[in-house]
Amino acid sequence: MTDIVEMKGMNKYFGKLHVLKDIDLTVAKGEVVVIIGASGSGKSTLIRCVNGLEEFESGHLTVDGHPLAPKSGNPKSLAEIRKEVGMVFQQFNLFPHLTVKKNIMLAPQKVKSSSETVANATAERLLNRVGIGNQADKYPSQLSGGQQQRVAIARALAMEPRLMLFDEPTSALDPEMIGEVLDVMRELAKEGMTMMVVTHEMGFAREVADRVIYIHEGQIVEQGKPDEVFDNPQNERTQAFLSRVL
Ligand code: ADP
Ligand code: MG
Repeated sequence: MTDIVEMKGMNKYFGKLHVLKDIDLTVAKGEVVVIIGASGSGKSTLIRCVNGLEEFESGHLTVDGHPLAPKSGNPKSLAEIRKEVGMVFQQFNLFPHLTVKKNIMLAPQKVKSSSETVANATAERLLNRVGIGNQADKYPSQLSGGQQQRVAIARALAMEPRLMLFDEPTSALDPEMIGEVLDVMRELAKEGMTMMVVTHEMGFAREVADRVIYIHEGQIVEQGKPDEVFDNPQNERTQAFLSRVL
């Protein structure tokens, strides 16, 4: 199996705060890895490193064969990685002044030099796929949170990513909209997308993850198949965390 993400001995600091400690983590092509852990444990920082949104101080990180050097990076790799890695945030981050369809067309046109016709067709196809083909000409503010997050997913998919990163994609949503976003993610996983997902949706993790990783204070303290981690956690930190959230 090919590994899309390879992290070896990664360390990351914010000033004196040691946020990621000797992280070893590989993600295989087609694998769905769900990252869980308490607030402030380093989950966001970990996945932000994967598309170069955060630098790190030491260790190795390779994304789809492109090495990201610690600090001051590797500009060529960074550009390639940004093309190949899609990211979905808690706060949708759509462009408010662009219609839904234009939000999705922008990156393919700018970064991949897609023609207007091709970008338009891709946007329509993806909007149908996430179940909002009829919202194409609206502005983000006219959509519900769940619809906006589905646009954000479609926008990331328009770049034909090799890896998708999700950072608490349903945490800002009203409860009744969580399901529609998780459904889209579930479909993506089924179709073989490689995914790293930070979430507190333990039901989703149990059902969709190939592997669950528990992070405590910047360290991976436990990982395994969902049933192993949820039903029989070995580490006392994991046990304590799960007893609070399950
Ligand atoms: P999580 O996503 O698990 O809640 P984060 O990765 O966001 O955790 O944060 C890990 C730690 O790093 C926390 O202590 C947080 O306060 C700190 N942190 C995150 N981002 C920054 C930043 N830009 N500058 C300084 N400290 C940060
Ligand atoms: Mg976070």
